[in-house]
Amino acid sequence: MSQVLSAIEKWVEKHPYLDEIANLQKVMVATLEEATHAESMLTGAMFESKEMESELKRGIPALKTISINDAEVEATVVLVRTIAEALSSSSLPTKMNEQCKKIHAIASEEPEIMGGLIKQVLTENEVDLEELTLASVDRGVLMYVIWNALSHVLHPIKTIIDEKLQTSSLKWNKEYCPVCGQLPGMAQLVRTSKGRERNLVCGCCQMQWRYKRMGCPYCKNDKQKTLNIIELEGVKNLRIDTCDKCKGYIKTYTDEGNEQVILSDWSTLHLDLVGKNNGYQRFGYQLYGI
Ligand SMILES: [Zn+2]
Ligand SMILES: [Zn+2]
Repeated sequence: MSQVLSAIEKWVEKHPYLDEIANLQKVMVATLEEATHAESMLTGAMFESKEMESELKRGIPALKTISINDAEVEATVVLVRTIAEALSSSSLPTKMNEQCKKIHAIASEEPEIMGGLIKQVLTENEVDLEELTLASVDRGVLMYVIWNALSHVLHPIKTIIDEKLQTSSLKWNKEYCPVCGQLPGMAQLVRTSKGRERNLVCGCCQMQWRYKRMGCPYCKNDKQKTLNIIELEGVKNLRIDTCDKCKGYIKTYTDEGNEQVILSDWSTLHLDLVGKNNGYQRFGYQLYGI
């Protein structure tokens, strides 16, 4: 069993109420670990584009500058099909099995339609179900499958941008993702040579980037009095940072070592409930509905 899968099992032992979503996630992780072909399609020189780099310096996310070509869309369609097939035949709730059967059928029988939906997710973070007469497909499930496939297919570009950020040849410091432009779903405090700093994690493509430690990443408010922390009894290394100006919250992992499970968002759904029950809202897109 891979490290991530055993880390998920350990997490569920302590959080048994996450059992159902963890089963879903285990199938997803195992499927993506085997899907190496889709990723290798994207290791072209296109990501070294000078235009992308100069646009990133102006604050324009990579996917707004470089467009994904047909071969890459095709690779993503194949991966969506593979994921949907695995999820439709695993022991998951019947609704999930059925939804994934429908998604698998579209990706196999009408790959152009699925390709169009993938492009729409990349440009608008939306799927136009009505126009495509796919009304019986649940939007949330489709977005979840497509973003997981994209997160995998985009791995090479995330690595290249991450290297630029690490070597300081590129400074980002924006509140939105440098790859896909979406808002963060989570944050992490990390120890660096400059002390403790904060990383943000994209709620969609899972890219991580450094952001100032203090201040709301949604409305940029930095008035201390309006920024608070909700700590949960019995919950170690996790907290909810809130902002009274925009009423937003962000879940924050305050330790290091279990990023693959904790930063993947589904594993801390109980914190989303607490944030929402306290009157705050989540601005980063949520792939895992509660
Ligand atoms: Zn992103
Ligand atoms: Zn705010």
